[in-house]
Amino acid sequence: MTETDVLIIGSGPAACSAALYTTRAGFKTIMLGGKNFGGQLVQTSEVENYAGFIDPVNGFELMDKMHKQCKRLGAEILQKTATSVKKEGNKMLTELEGGEVISSYAVLAATGATARWLGVEGENKFKNHGLSACATCDGFFYKGKTVAIIGGGNTAFEDALFLTNFCQKVYLIHRRAGFRADEITIKKAQSNPKIEFVIPAVTTKLLGDDKVTGIELQNPETKEIKTLEVQGVFVAIGSIPQTKFLQDSGVKLTETGHVAVDSKHRTNIEGLFAAGDCQDAVYRQAIVAAGSGAKAAIEIINYINQIK
Ligand SMILES: Cc1cc2nc3c(=O)[nH]c(=O)nc-3n(C[C@H](O)[C@H](O)[C@H](O)COP(=O)(O)OP(=O)(O)OC[C@H]3O[C@@H](n4cnc5c(N)ncnc54)[C@H](O)[C@@H]3O)c2cc1C
Repeated sequence: MTETDVLIIGSGPAACSAALYTTRAGFKTIMLGGKNFGGQLVQTSEVENYAGFIDPVNGFELMDKMHKQCKRLGAEILQKTATSVKKEGNKMLTELEGGEVISSYAVLAATGATARWLGVEGENKFKNHGLSACATCDGFFYKGKTVAIIGGGNTAFEDALFLTNFCQKVYLIHRRAGFRADEITIKKAQSNPKIEFVIPAVTTKLLGDDKVTGIELQNPETKEIKTLEVQGVFVAIGSIPQTKFLQDSGVKLTETGHVAVDSKHRTNIEGLFAAGDCQDAVYRQAIVAAGSGAKAAIEIINYINQIK
């Protein structure tokens, strides 16, 4: 069994930021890279809203810098995946794929989330070429353009309103006539002249050659098919937190499947903390994930100092 003070499950911004604090506090820290080494940011070529970079930074490069910084401070990064976590005495035991077990005083779950996609034709081809699941991240690249946002919850409505700040026109597409968003946000969107509602409409295809030029929709009631010319499509139908490895741990999850934490990033299991997108259904931004990783790490340091 491998022994460490802190085990951080993940290698995205939340995990890296946490490791900076725990290593600098003198705690032996192991990080697990998981199947998506570096996390979600490695999928994007341009990050323009992470403080400290004058010009846009490539997501892979940003994460590579974070990993090197963690290693310089003494963190060990293993390219391994956790399959379960359980509490035994005052230790946390984390099992990895292949059966290896890591024992630690504290575990930080920083396992992120993945966007929920539509599963329609053209989706894989157009990711980063006119198709995005993050209006806050990529909206600015569509200045003066016509875009579509797909979804009917608060995120879709808030994203649509956000996009009207710089896009020429925003179609809000939803498969039903009713919405899950708050009434006040719906009213705001309805009174915004740049937003046009296309409901009920199911997205059937994304159109274009090397980047999105349009979207094909079907009315689920009349079966009528129509196309809209758009240069960008934003999917806002939720995210899937990566929490499967916690299913037998007894940890409480929220109704969206995110890890339930208090303001100190503590879960209901003493010694198990969570940070980043796996506990955040709302903000889902690298800088926010990094900030929450730092907060969680400070609480982990206090916790270990108390129990050791
Ligand atoms: C295409 C794209 C573009 C984006 N652009 C921006 C942007 O411009 N600006 C911005 O602020 N945000 C952007 N985001 C959002 C940002 O990437 C996330 O908010 C951020 O990465 C969340 O960080 P995190 O550390 O919580 O999780 P993640 O980055 O998702 O990292 C999770 C980590 O956990 C690991 N993991 C998962 N399960 C296990 C397991 N069982 N065992 C071990 N490891 C595991 C994964 O391998 C991964 O390393 C973008 C997201 C995407 C998808």
